[in-house]
Amino acid sequence: MSQKLYVAGEFYGIQKYVLGITAAGAGQAKRLRARSFVVQVLEEIAVDELGELGDIQVVMSGGGQFVLALATGEDMRARLLAFRAEFQRRLFEELGGELSFNLGWAESEADARRARAGERRRPWAAIMTGPDGWIHKPMRFSDIFPPCDVCRKRPATEEWAADGPPESVCKRCDADRRIGAEIPRVEGVRLTEQNAEAHLLGRGIRFVRPGDGGPGRMLHRHVPVHPNGNSLVTFEEIAAKAIGDDLLGVLKADVDDFGALIARHSQAGSLEELHRISRDLDGFFSAAVQRMIVESPEWKPAVYTVFSGGDDLLLVGPWDKMLDFAAALEQAFSAGPGRLYNLKLSAAVSFMPPRIPIRHGVERAEEDLKKAKAGSKNRCVTLHGVWGWETLRRTLGEGRELVRWWECHAANRDVLRRLYRYTTTDKPAAHLWAWELRNFGSPRFEEARLFRLWGKAVLANWEKPSREETRAALLYALTATRTRSH
Ligand SMILES: [Zn+2]
Repeated sequence: MSQKLYVAGEFYGIQKYVLGITAAGAGQAKRLRARSFVVQVLEEIAVDELGELGDIQVVMSGGGQFVLALATGEDMRARLLAFRAEFQRRLFEELGGELSFNLGWAESEADARRARAGERRRPWAAIMTGPDGWIHKPMRFSDIFPPCDVCRKRPATEEWAADGPPESVCKRCDADRRIGAEIPRVEGVRLTEQNAEAHLLGRGIRFVRPGDGGPGRMLHRHVPVHPNGNSLVTFEEIAAKAIGDDLLGVLKADVDDFGALIARHSQAGSLEELHRISRDLDGFFSAAVQRMIVESPEWKPAVYTVFSGGDDLLLVGPWDKMLDFAAALEQAFSAGPGRLYNLKLSAAVSFMPPRIPIRHGVERAEEDLKKAKAGSKNRCVTLHGVWGWETLRRTLGEGRELVRWWECHAANRDVLRRLYRYTTTDKPAAHLWAWELRNFGSPRFEEARLFRLWGKAVLANWEKPSREETRAALLYALTATRTRSH
């Protein structure tokens, strides 16, 4: 008889849940962060309650999933079955099926993960099926009336008028609003039955604020806050910090082949190593990345964390700053866990106007990230191309150089726009580019001479892939020099 049982759990559909809000306006930033926080706390609650079943050892945890080693007793499997059914029931009751919880267990770590993956195919099975077969749905659509203005998943029972037009919301969204208001000051949570400030799955929560003494786990994720320290900066205000066009950049990044790495260690039974790697990766995404943002006077007021932990992150900021951040992120990753464990990072930065729901930009970034993963990976997809990290840095440098030439009137927007058009068409465009070069103006001053030299160098390499880089650099410059629409 084995003395250990491995338990693998995950909250499934996190991104959809976090972004599944109807708000596009001022409330969006606050609600997204509140939901992301709720997911972090759910993970704490699940691990905490599994700890009550017996001695646990955390193999890995972060980003909404965990693997634990549980000292098994006689009836442990029966107790896990009961725990899963009860936890799913509470989750369904509170979130209305927006987020699912899968839990699997086995005598080996690899088998526990397989069991968990199997649960994905039958979400809610534990609460939807009884001894006599399928049970009727706990909540029918007709019960959801009037629907909550924020989630549209639960009946509205509360009224708000505080921030913006009045809205009818459900109990959960009302609680999220209060959490959202606390977010700028919250560093973590403590599960408690006394003096609870909020409730989740029937558990009392006390927020841990700076100076309260460190929580077991940093739940703090940076979001830009107004100087008064109380209200979040809106996505419109973040976009206004961009150079040129008021666009947001949605940065999605994750570790390449992490699943394969887990599978390898898990098959080999090298769980100590797996524990170390996942702890270091979670440390990188949850703490090191956050430090990078907070310690930079340029990023701190502009970079918004939707989530960051486990092996991935989703950040939103001014488009130009997110491009720089992506490059810096990769550098920090390569110098840190990347070098230590021979891991690479892929990312996508997609641009979007700030007045539409963030999920549209996230969907784009997700599609783009797939393009990076489909090829040789270790790439960043942005500015209409798939780039190696060094190429991206070079292209951003070239783009900034073009902006500088524009600023000192060595290049004007019409020229940049025409040059961009030539790079997007095929061969004959080289003649047009050459013709344009003659009209660059007399190089009376140094910057104009440099701009012309750059144009000649592009022409000399016309047939090479570097033309793609030139196109991306021009796109960067055009976006950076677009006058604001208002
Ligand atoms: Zn709601």
